[in-house]
Amino acid sequence: MRRLDFVALVLGTLTTWTAAAADSPSILILYDNTAVRSDLQLDWGFAAVVTFRGHTILFDSGTKPDVLTSNMRALNVDPSTFEFGVFSHSHQDHVGGLAAVTGLRAGLVVHYLDAFPPAAFASAERLGAKPVRITEGRELLPGLFTTGQIAGEPPEQALVLDTSKGLIVLTGCSHPGVVGMVEAARRLKPGATIRLVVGGFHMLLNTESQVRATIARLREMGVQSILPTHCTGVVATRLFREAFGEQFLSGGAGTRVPID
Ligand SMILES: [Zn+2]
Ligand SMILES: [Zn+2]
Repeated sequence: MRRLDFVALVLGTLTTWTAAAADSPSILILYDNTAVRSDLQLDWGFAAVVTFRGHTILFDSGTKPDVLTSNMRALNVDPSTFEFGVFSHSHQDHVGGLAAVTGLRAGLVVHYLDAFPPAAFASAERLGAKPVRITEGRELLPGLFTTGQIAGEPPEQALVLDTSKGLIVLTGCSHPGVVGMVEAARRLKPGATIRLVVGGFHMLLNTESQVRATIARLREMGVQSILPTHCTGVVATRLFREAFGEQFLSGGAGTRVPID
């Protein structure tokens, strides 16, 4: 090997390693009703940024653009790096913060569900975003899927990451039920391990026995660990913590979950 080739090879390796270290695969919660750092604002709503295989994707946008902007700044997240957005469902606490992103990332493609109301599409277009309609589950990037539209009040989609250690399911509110969200993820990759379910589980009004039945079903489906947040509810969160023990992860705005 010529000396120059050798230098190029070493430099190439170093460059790759540095890039990988800077964008280590993770889910970083940007917006939540709890926060793990005092310099982050907490507010009802949910947003996260997913860094996966060199891609940076926005998932939901919280309620208020100013809160999202403040948290992105504090967490050193640059919206101009977002490749596209995926929005779980049309509630304001998930789509309301979009203006914080579109001002810095013109023409952002946002994956909305076909079931979103016309006003949601019009609003996104007014902000300069490009809404795309999702109906069926599909691979948006290698290893990164939407479940497609899952029937519920309102319909919802989850983001599914196919990692070396199994699937990670990222949910907004889980209005169709967290079990339905995980079932939809399993249909994309039959037989795959469900390594982690993270996001809102929407069990604020559920009884303890309903929560226990959900836990049992998630266990049956082989869900290894969970990070319930946002609209999960205090009672449900306590029961999940008891049931999953060390496989229960707690989190809020500022929580970074490594994903590979
Ligand atoms: Zn909702
Ligand atoms: Zn919500």
